[in-house]
Amino acid sequence: MKRRTFLSALGLGAAAAAISGWIASCSKKEEEQGQGPAVMVPGKTEYDWKMVTSWPPGFPVLGEAAERIADKVNVMSNGRIKVKVYGGGELVPPLGVFDAVRQGSVEMGHSASYYWAGTSPATQFFAAVPFGMNAQQSTAWLYRGGGQELWDELYAGFGLKPFPAGNTGVQMAGWFRKEINSVDDLKGLKMRIPGLGGKVLAKMGGTVVLLAGSEVFPALERGVIDAAEWVGPYHDRRLGLHQAAKNYYYPGWHEPGTTTELMVNKQAFDALPQDLKTMIELACTDAHVWSLAELEAQNSGALLDLVANHGVKVRQLPDDVLRGLKRAAKETVEEVAASDPASRKVYDSFLKFKEQNDQWQNISERAYQYALTV
Ligand code: CA
Repeated sequence: MKRRTFLSALGLGAAAAAISGWIASCSKKEEEQGQGPAVMVPGKTEYDWKMVTSWPPGFPVLGEAAERIADKVNVMSNGRIKVKVYGGGELVPPLGVFDAVRQGSVEMGHSASYYWAGTSPATQFFAAVPFGMNAQQSTAWLYRGGGQELWDELYAGFGLKPFPAGNTGVQMAGWFRKEINSVDDLKGLKMRIPGLGGKVLAKMGGTVVLLAGSEVFPALERGVIDAAEWVGPYHDRRLGLHQAAKNYYYPGWHEPGTTTELMVNKQAFDALPQDLKTMIELACTDAHVWSLAELEAQNSGALLDLVANHGVKVRQLPDDVLRGLKRAAKETVEEVAASDPASRKVYDSFLKFKEQNDQWQNISERAYQYALTV
């Protein structure tokens, strides 16, 4: 009534009446056609899916990205596809994700492809490579440089469809009980550092200790290990690693921009209508951008806090140490590429893209970063 009065006061009584009449006739037409009004009414759930992850329940950013994908897909599809997310160990072990999705006991998994190196060494190139590509470069390779096609081909062999679904950005080199001043300081160093990074450290004379997240802090604090890498300031502070060692080294040469993945059982994915396939793809793209943005935002604040309030000494790895690690990384990755044809094929594409793109990065991103320091 108020609206009618207001419109009447403006001399628009006739228009108001016409609009009201039109709205009423539209509603009537919809009723006649058996359609409800065009408001959000949850659609019938057509797909009730499960997503297992490698992350502890409630894990910041990486676990949140998995939840975010499930939420976005639910909202976009108006409830036609519902995905329940499980933390690592809740339904299958954290490293059981690949097999669970592959066998079809669940439809989706959120993880990082380097965990499957034992099944297929080529998977590692889609997550992180020591001295490999940063987040910007690997994103370009995956989306626009042929990386996704190679990933699709590799995973199709396991009955899976992969999507990039997050990136950590450059990680930190880790927490060290003692300072690292030369390559000799790496000899005999007992460090928690998984994957290819661990192989590189072993080549430099270090000893790799494999520990799950929850075991890292007590081992470092008690001196069972001399050093440990985890992710970056935001995650590392949460694990309390600054209370176990004070030397916090950069850069994360071993994980220069780790891509996380969403894998979908291929048979289940192929059976979806095209609109739902596109929604899953877009939810992954969203998670990819969101993860990187969230970590860029959170890491900077956490780093300031660690330095200002926790006595953390942030140190750069010396040039000769980085040089040695880089040489060992090249050897390590070449060995992987030589170990099977799939790895060779993926690494050739990875390396070709990186070498070409490095030329551009040198005069764009890196030149700009340098310009800030002059
Ligand atoms: Ca890491």
